[in-house]
Amino acid sequence: MLMQQERETIVFYGRKLITSNLTTGSGGNLSIINRQTGQLAIKPTGVDYLEMRPEDVVVVDLDGKIVDGRLRPSSEISLHLGLLKARPDIHAVIHTHQVYATTLACLNWEIPAVHYLVGFSGQKVPLAPYATYGTPELAQYVVQSIGQYNACLMANHGIVTVGTNLAAAFNVAEELELVARLYYQAMCIGKPQILSDSEMEVVIQKFTTYGQPQPQ
Ligand code: 13P
Ligand code: ZN
Repeated sequence: MLMQQERETIVFYGRKLITSNLTTGSGGNLSIINRQTGQLAIKPTGVDYLEMRPEDVVVVDLDGKIVDGRLRPSSEISLHLGLLKARPDIHAVIHTHQVYATTLACLNWEIPAVHYLVGFSGQKVPLAPYATYGTPELAQYVVQSIGQYNACLMANHGIVTVGTNLAAAFNVAEELELVARLYYQAMCIGKPQILSDSEMEVVIQKFTTYGQPQPQ
């Protein structure tokens, strides 16, 4: 099967989106690119994550043309293609409707540096203007708004996260859901203190060596 490993990875992280409460049903979508072949594995549209099998994942080329798979690709294919073309540093994209981040997106707010974990995105999480789901216009707004950040809220819709692989994009989504929840809760009872740009620069730099060293 073409891109078997990537298709299995999409099934694995699709299930993780459900078990981590980052999406429901068939909401949201995931993709991984192979930059050598210029092919992309992407979730099929409207398929329940718990029922999705590797062969259901669709392989498309950079024009969105189906290369392998029986099902129709995600309706957000232009969003995934747009981001992967605009950002040569990334290899995976996740879009979800995770509840707290989407709550803020429904208010058309950005997420400021209310907690240091916002550094998973950058200095903040920017907001893209609203456009109908699955349109090239929405893709264009998100590509413009995300810039070099690792995440972007989508007004009245959800959030998109990117990474060097799907595990990294998943971590961004998970950590930003915590930050969105903290921001919401802090706003409910007071006025959160926002970290300075200079402190966030320190955090973002420190993140580059966070965790265990890579095995030699
Ligand atoms: P798909 O099922 O087509 O991927 O769409 C879900 C979604 O979240 C649209 O924005
Ligand atoms: Zn969506």
